[in-house]
Amino acid sequence: MFAILAFVLAVQDTTRFVSRETMIRLYTDCDEARWPWGLAETFVPKTDSELVAGVAQRRALEAGWRAYFAERAGDSITVTPADQWVYPLAVRARLLNNFNNPRADGPHEALDIFVTREGVTVKAPVSGVIVASGDDWEGGWARARGGFHYEGGGLSRRAGNGVMLFDPGTGDYHYFAHLQRGIDVRTGDLVRAGQSLGRVGHTGNASQPGHGRHLHYAFKQAGMECNVDGVLKSINPYPQIRAARNRLIRGAR
Ligand SMILES: [Zn+2]
Repeated sequence: MFAILAFVLAVQDTTRFVSRETMIRLYTDCDEARWPWGLAETFVPKTDSELVAGVAQRRALEAGWRAYFAERAGDSITVTPADQWVYPLAVRARLLNNFNNPRADGPHEALDIFVTREGVTVKAPVSGVIVASGDDWEGGWARARGGFHYEGGGLSRRAGNGVMLFDPGTGDYHYFAHLQRGIDVRTGDLVRAGQSLGRVGHTGNASQPGHGRHLHYAFKQAGMECNVDGVLKSINPYPQIRAARNRLIRGAR
C-alpha cells in the first residue's frame, strides 16, 4: 500500500517540472539563442504570442513549485529573508560588479565571481526548489569555419553544467553556470540556503580560452519587458551578494 502511494507521488512529481530545454526557453527574456546550422549562435526575438504563452506556462509551473515546496519543506526549511542571503561561494573570492558590462553578444546581465582555483563549493543563496540542472556537459571550443564555436549538453550550451533555483518566497530565479561535473542537486530537489550545489568549473562558454575560474551568477525577477508583463528580467544582485560577503567575512554565516 505504501509502495503504491510512494509510486503515485513520484509520478505526480515529475509533472511539476519541464525539460531543461523548455525551462531555459521560459527563463530567457525577450530573445532566445538558436543555432540554425549547429554552429554560430544567433539571438532571435520571441514573438508576442510566444512571450505571453511562456509567461502563462511559467506562472502555472511556479504555482506548482510553491505547493511542492510547502508540501515537502514543512517547518524544516523556511524561505530566506532578503537580508539573509548566503554568499554563493565557500570562499570570499573576488567579487566585482560587472553586471551589464559590454560583451560581444550584448551586455553581461549577471555577476562573475572570480576564484583563484576551480573546485570551490557553490552554495544556494536562498532556500528553494531546483527547477533545472544539467551535469553532462561534454562540449568545449572547437575550431571550424569562421573561428571557434562551442558545442555540448549540460544545462545549455552557454551555461555548461549549471543549476536554476526558484525561490518560492519571492518568485525570483537564481542561475549558476560553468560548474564542474558532479553537480550536487537535481531537478525537483529542495535546498536550504547555504546548501552545496556544486563546484566552480569552466564548462559552457567559459571554456573559451582565457575565460575560466569564475562563477557566473544571474538573478531574475518577473517584470515588464518588451511590452509584456511577467517576462523574467535580469536584476543586478550585487548589493545583496556584497552584503552576504560582508556577513561571511564577519563570520556571521
Ligand atoms: Zn558571466
